[in-house]
Amino acid sequence: MADINKTIKSLEYNGYTVKRFDSAEAAAEWLDEVIDGAVVGFGDSKTIIKMELYRRLHSHNKCYDPNQSRGNEDVFHELGRRAMVCDVFLTSVNAMSETGEMVNIDGTGNRVAGSLFGHKVIYFIVGTNKIEPSLDAARERARNYAGPMNALKYDLPTPCVAHYKQTGEYKCFDCNCPERICNAEVIYRKRMSYLDDAIVVLIDEELGF
Ligand code: SF4
Repeated sequence: MADINKTIKSLEYNGYTVKRFDSAEAAAEWLDEVIDGAVVGFGDSKTIIKMELYRRLHSHNKCYDPNQSRGNEDVFHELGRRAMVCDVFLTSVNAMSETGEMVNIDGTGNRVAGSLFGHKVIYFIVGTNKIEPSLDAARERARNYAGPMNALKYDLPTPCVAHYKQTGEYKCFDCNCPERICNAEVIYRKRMSYLDDAIVVLIDEELGF
């Protein structure tokens, strides 16, 4: 069981503002209220999709969400590029530690690039299921659980997907496939310095992977 109070204190020590919610619905309502009249970029995130944040926000903000590309790769890249320089960026992470670090793995780079530079305010929206005791454990989660889960989501011809189908175990093989989706690993040790704010929206629910 994760020590959530320790995690919040560590994140605050590392420069983040932390907002905690007991449900994704409550967090989504709050985000819908505080993000208004802004240009908003989206990172690729199962958590954000589940919270239907594009549907909620796009009626009163200008939103760029690559997930609205409906499988069209050119549109995905164009929306991803536009999402790079906005007022606000929304993303999640693959893992977080009780010691206040966060970890993201990315294939195309739009999610990690947008989470590092180009916006005034960044929201990291994270279910408490992603909290691990240490940075090492968080990196392990990102690599050996979130990576294969993400590959499985797209049913990619990668060894992690084949292994899961045979054994039911999540395991990364550090593959060299063209379809590999784990090309960058970013560790957020402290809030990036130029931002007006970096807000961790912590939700007491199992969300994403
Ligand atoms: S590096 Fe390859 S094997 Fe490992 S999780 Fe990513 S796609 Fe799967």
